Amino acid sequence: MHEKRSGDRKNMKINTNEYIEFFDFSKEKSLTHRRFKHVDIEQLIDQKRTNATLDVLQIGESFEGKSIYELKYGKGDKKVMMWSQMHGNEATATMALFDLFNFLESGEGKAATIRSFLQEKLTIHFIPMLNPDGSDKFERRNAELIDINRDARATKTQEGKLLKKRALKIRPDFAFNLHDQNIYYNVPGTQNPVSISLLAPAYNENRNINSVRKSAMQLIGSIHKLLQKFIPHAVAKYDDTHSPRGFGDNFQRWGASTILVESGAMKGDPEKQEIRKLNFILLLHALIEIAKESYTQYSIQDYERIPFNASQLHDLVLRNVTVEKENGKSFTTDLAIRQEELTVDRDYYVRGEIFDIGDLRDEYGYTDKDMQGLTFCRGKIHTEKAIRMAELTNELVYDFLREGYLALQVCDGSLNGKHLHSYPIEIFTSNRKPELLTQPILEGSASFFLKDKERLRFAIVNGYLIDLEKRIAPKVKNNIF
Ligand SMILES: [Zn+2]
Repeated sequence: MHEKRSGDRKNMKINTNEYIEFFDFSKEKSLTHRRFKHVDIEQLIDQKRTNATLDVLQIGESFEGKSIYELKYGKGDKKVMMWSQMHGNEATATMALFDLFNFLESGEGKAATIRSFLQEKLTIHFIPMLNPDGSDKFERRNAELIDINRDARATKTQEGKLLKKRALKIRPDFAFNLHDQNIYYNVPGTQNPVSISLLAPAYNENRNINSVRKSAMQLIGSIHKLLQKFIPHAVAKYDDTHSPRGFGDNFQRWGASTILVESGAMKGDPEKQEIRKLNFILLLHALIEIAKESYTQYSIQDYERIPFNASQLHDLVLRNVTVEKENGKSFTTDLAIRQEELTVDRDYYVRGEIFDIGDLRDEYGYTDKDMQGLTFCRGKIHTEKAIRMAELTNELVYDFLREGYLALQVCDGSLNGKHLHSYPIEIFTSNRKPELLTQPILEGSASFFLKDKERLRFAIVNGYLIDLEKRIAPKVKNNIF
C-alpha cells in the first residue's frame, strides 16, 4: 500500500499537454463569457449537489438575499480556501472554479489518480462568487456600494462578515484570493500585457516575511515557473503595499499562506477564456504542490525575481499625429486611447476616450501605429436622411467613412441608449447628436479621421482603428447614442 502510494506520487508530474487536456475535458461549457449571473451558477451548483462528489453548503446570503455557497472537497489534513468574485466584475476565476469542480468530479487515468491524491491529502473549501449582488450588475462593489476587499477590518458587509467567519472557522493552511486586474498593466520593459499577476500579500506595514508568508512566496515561485511554460513574459507581481482593510493581507495575518491571483489580459482574448484556462491550470498545480509539499523546494528569491506590474498600456496608441490648431499653428504628438466597458445585461459596449496626449514613447498600445505624416481631422455627421438600422451593411458604413462621415442618424433603434451594434461608425437617434472633435482633447471622444494630403487614411471610431484602404471591419462593440 505504501509503495503504491509513492508510485502514484511520482505519476503526479504533469506536462503542459496534459494540463491542457485536463482543462479541455473539464471546461464548464455553459460559461462562455464574463457576464454570467448568480442564477447561472446556481443551476450549476444544483448539479454539483446532485452529483455529490463535492459537498455543497449554503453558507449565507448577500445583502439582497442571494445565496452564497461553499463547495467542499476532500478529507485531508491540509486545509485550503479559495474564493472568487468578491469584486462582481472580476469573473474569470469563477469560471475556472467550475472547471475545477468538473475535474474533481470526473476523468480517468492520471486525472483520477490526481483527484484521489488531492482528496486524501487536502480539504478544499471553495466559495465561488462571494459578491452575487455586484456580479449580477457586473460591478466591483456590493449592493451597499462597499468594496468588500476593503472590509476585512470593519466587516460591515454581510459578504465580508461571512468570509471572515468561514476563515476563522476553517483556519486554512493556504488561501487563494481570486481577482481580475486592470487590463492596462504590462510586464515592465515590454509591451506584453500581464495575463496573470500573483502576490503573497504583506501582513504588516514592514512587509516582513514569516513562515506563513514564506510558504505563499514559495508556492508562487512554483506557479510562476509553470506559467512561464504557457505564457512566457506575461506574468508579474501585484503591488505589495500592506492594506490593513484588505482580505488577503488579513488572511496572511490570520495564519493562512495567502496567494492573490489576478487575471489580467491577453491580446485577442476579450472574454478571458485563455486566462480562465491558465487559472484552472495554476490552481490545479498549486493544489498538487500543496498536497505533495513540493513547493518547499522554491526560494524567496524565486518569488522576488518576478517583476512588479507596470502600467504603460492603452487600447490604442497613435504616434506622431499632426494636429493643426485654428490659429494656423501645428504640432506633432502621440495620442493614447482607452475604451471603457459599459455593461448591458450579459453583454457590453465600449466608450473610447482620448486618455493622454504628448510624448508616449514609454507607453504601448494593444494596437500601436506610427501615423507620421497624417493629420487629425474632424468627421462629419450625417443627418440629411435618417437611415433604418436594417438598411445598414458594413459596405455602406465604409462608403460613409470614406466620404468623411463618422456619425449616422438612424430613425429607429432608440431603446434608451441600450442598443448594441457592431458597425464601425457612430450611430445616433434624434435624441442625441455625437460631438466630434476638431482637435484632440483629454477625455474627448475617440472618433476622428487621420488624413494625408489627398485623402482620409484611417478612421478612429470610438477608439477602434479602421484602415480605410482595407475592407476588413474590426470586431467592434458599439452602442446607439
Ligand atoms: Zn479585485
